[in-house]
Amino acid sequence: MIVGILREIKVAEKRVAMTPAGVVAMAENGHTVLVEKEAGVGSGYPDAAYLEAGATLVDTPAEIYKASDLVMHVKEPQPSEYDIIREDQIVFTYLHLAADEPQTKALVKSKAVCIAYETIEKKNGSLPLLVPMSEVAGRMSVQEAAKYLEMPEGGMGILLGGVTGVEPATVVVLGGGIVGLNAAKMACGLGAKVYILDTNLERLRYLDDIMPANCFPVMSNPAVLRDLVLRADVVIGAVLIAGAKAPKLLTRDMLKEMKNGSVIVDVAIDQGGCFETSRPTTHADPTFVIDGVTHYCVANMPGAVARTSTLALTNATLPYALAIANKGWKRAMQESDEIKLGANVVKGNITFKAVADAFGMAY
Ligand code: NAD
Repeated sequence: MIVGILREIKVAEKRVAMTPAGVVAMAENGHTVLVEKEAGVGSGYPDAAYLEAGATLVDTPAEIYKASDLVMHVKEPQPSEYDIIREDQIVFTYLHLAADEPQTKALVKSKAVCIAYETIEKKNGSLPLLVPMSEVAGRMSVQEAAKYLEMPEGGMGILLGGVTGVEPATVVVLGGGIVGLNAAKMACGLGAKVYILDTNLERLRYLDDIMPANCFPVMSNPAVLRDLVLRADVVIGAVLIAGAKAPKLLTRDMLKEMKNGSVIVDVAIDQGGCFETSRPTTHADPTFVIDGVTHYCVANMPGAVARTSTLALTNATLPYALAIANKGWKRAMQESDEIKLGANVVKGNITFKAVADAFGMAY
């Protein structure tokens, strides 16, 4: 197959859909890879690295769409691309169609085969192409919290791990899923006292088994949550109720009673946020302060660490991309339920129920 790697054009997106190592893997499997010029620059991969890996560089997205059997992006196709996607072409990227009617209509019209990273699902219900970004955001949340606890950043001036003879900070993580686990791991590693709250007893049992002694998995309920939040130096919001808006667990009332200079990081902001006072922010202006509490609510946290994010994402996407390229989309879907669940729009038909339902379209 001819595989086309597009340069990301969505604002502030620096990731790339394939690294030079991915190009080598594709070539070893007999495929030709076209890479749009400067596609990897934001992630630290110059054009020369792709050339060395055996890719052919091309100037424009139009050339990629014209020549490729399989095109890969990180973010969804932008309006400038809608009319150049070809019939029967395979488009493999994050699509997030249920929140984007114009794009859904454009992909239906294109008659392409559109496979979404985010709906590829393993038998156990996990979403292997979302997990890496949750890992990045979880780990990064603690790094950001540590920074905003520092006085020059408006914080209360405490070190997460304390030092000999000085108590460490208290970190409360709401939600013990992928984001929460990764946040807690980082905070524990830095020596903080970490409480991780979840409503799923099985998950708490698992966390209790694997986490170090300075991590306390706790069943979440409003009274416990309030008590811990008021003692916290840092609160990290990491809850998810699949397909629903995040519940507002930290209320304005609680916020008023929190320590002055404490930091709250709402990773769940992409689902509306789990703090009542959250609103989405950007990397250009990531924080705001309400009642003396610094809020960090960046909706695309992995974008700030594009190199790590690209590697984490492409580690996860490459095996699927290889399967699709080696077998063609039909056989890849016949042989893999995971890839089949990724199919959102196929040759003019919506094939993912939640997308059809979102717009009252045929499924
Ligand atoms: P996950 O499904 O792995 O974990 C969510 C956890 O929340 C589950 O363990 C669940 O039991 C728990 N939970 C649900 N309701 C709860 C409640 N009332 N109290 C306590 N726990 C509760 O999800 P995840 O991958 O960890 O993602 C968490 C959130 O982070 C999602 O909204 C995701 O979209 C978001 N996210 C944001 C960014 C970003 O850049 N801001 C990046 C990646 C993920």
